[in-house]
Amino acid sequence: MKIKNIKNEYSLYFRLLKYTNKNLILFIICTIISGIAVFLIFSSIGILLSNIVGAINGETTQDYSLSLMYILVIFIFAILSSFSDIGFVYVEQKLQILLRNKMLKSYFKMDENISHKYSNTEVLNRVTEDVNQSTFLISYYMSGFIFQPILSGLFSVILLYMVDWRIAVLCLICTLGNFIFSRLTIKWVRKIRSNIVNGKSQTSNFMQECIEGAIEMRTFKLYKTFNNSLYNKLENISYNTKKFAFIEGLRRQISNISNDCLTIIILLSLGALLAYYKIIDFSNIMLSIPLSDQIGQMIMAVANFTSIVKQKSPHLERVFEIIDLPQELDNKINSNLQNNIKDTSQIIFDNVSFSYEEKEVLKQVSFNIKKGEKIAFVGESGSGKSTIIKILLGLYNNNYGNINVFGLEKENCSIEKWRSNFSYLPQDISLFNLTVAENISLGNGNLEDIRTVGKMANIDEFISNKPKGYNLKLQDGNVEFSGGQLQRIALARCLFKKSPIILMDEPTSALDKESEQIIKETIEQLPQDITIIVVTHRLNLTKNFDRLYVLEKGSIIESGNHNELLEKNGKYAYLWNIQDN
Ligand code: ADP
Ligand code: MG
Repeated sequence: MKIKNIKNEYSLYFRLLKYTNKNLILFIICTIISGIAVFLIFSSIGILLSNIVGAINGETTQDYSLSLMYILVIFIFAILSSFSDIGFVYVEQKLQILLRNKMLKSYFKMDENISHKYSNTEVLNRVTEDVNQSTFLISYYMSGFIFQPILSGLFSVILLYMVDWRIAVLCLICTLGNFIFSRLTIKWVRKIRSNIVNGKSQTSNFMQECIEGAIEMRTFKLYKTFNNSLYNKLENISYNTKKFAFIEGLRRQISNISNDCLTIIILLSLGALLAYYKIIDFSNIMLSIPLSDQIGQMIMAVANFTSIVKQKSPHLERVFEIIDLPQELDNKINSNLQNNIKDTSQIIFDNVSFSYEEKEVLKQVSFNIKKGEKIAFVGESGSGKSTIIKILLGLYNNNYGNINVFGLEKENCSIEKWRSNFSYLPQDISLFNLTVAENISLGNGNLEDIRTVGKMANIDEFISNKPKGYNLKLQDGNVEFSGGQLQRIALARCLFKKSPIILMDEPTSALDKESEQIIKETIEQLPQDITIIVVTHRLNLTKNFDRLYVLEKGSIIESGNHNELLEKNGKYAYLWNIQDN
């Protein structure tokens, strides 16, 4: 089981590396440059120490031109290294943009069947925080803390090996003790760290709930009740963070003492002894002193690399899960198939059944709607009304039976072509932080066309009365306009798309009677060639429609216009009578 996990963590990391594309080469070059820069600095100190000892012993003659060359190379690499920092940021940013694009693209094309698994905040957290955490693995810090010390340490081992392999081995043995100490104490730190992470995530969820329910918090005076709980949670995080800082600090100090002092003491004393017996040259021991620090850092970096990859892998998993979301089916491959039904003036549902997982929600639903008709689906909550709209929109495609819209067969039509037939007006409309005009045209459109649909949607008058008119920006909260006015701006957007069918799902259920009445009149006055299909439980809205279908538990139990249905004295009449119309 454990082996499988480890494999999984690294395969996630490799997958991340693949997304860097060609930028990985830039990352490697930058890392090599900064690795060399650090190595040069430390090795120069070593060479200097070694030369001093050599000079004291009268062994070496100083070669100033070589020293100057060395200083020049150090200088060049130091400058290059500062440029490489920009390279790291560049690679990390590119990767973040790419991942975010991929995630959003995948999210917007996800199979609707799984959409309920991801709340808005959940997706947002993954696109922002988890991407940040994931790309840490290919960042400036990762290079600085991990790859650069590994490289510099490797060069140090190689240099020492070339000078005297026994000193290289001695250095490795000395630094190994530090590594073992770090491994033994890491579990301790990791446990506290995981407590902090869990605590933070719980607290942030808790705070989010409180902020979302700000009005309830105020009216029920929940703040007093929650304050204690929040205080305890924050105190707990704070306690663990302090504990972490203390233990981690202690570990680091012990590690530094062991790395910097103990290693040097061992190297010097053992070196002096071996030099005394003329087994090795003492000037080479002097060379090894700064290099041993680099070797120690290398060994620690190797250990840290594993733990960082493990730490970040849950974030990688959360990012890739979004990228790998099951996508909605698209029948592009079949798009040249001939349509069976030639009638291009009707919307036909022929024995359509549909289930969410196990639960059958639509049972052999059949109806024909002619171009330009105004049709409503009414019925109690949960009867399957919205499901019909979602199936029409192509959000769910695993239905039984045939669906044909103006001669196009749903099964054989590409999603894009299919959706071009529809506009959609839900209860909770989404208007963007753009101008009214931009919200209507969603991109390019001239003011004349926008005003034409504005007039149809009954918004032209009150928008033109605003000083900025259609160029007024819709701000957060949209306090400028009432709910009914905003709903009609959204209706104007539907009209601007010029699709032959407008689908509306409970368009007035969040509005007062007065606003509903205006929308009712607006819909009734829309051009005759637009087919309107409305799903609602507000029966007054669709009273004058051409035909109403009454749904009950996924079946159509009645159909006809308002008067016909009242005469039948069935379900519709019952629903109408209990409503305060
Ligand atoms: P209506 O719009 O008439 O209120 P819906 O079409 O939204 O009804 O839902 C019909 C039934 O399908 C309800 O019982 C509802 O609980 C169920 N349902 C709706 N969406 C889902 C879903 N994503 N997963 C599972 N069941 C669902
Ligand atoms: Mg509904």
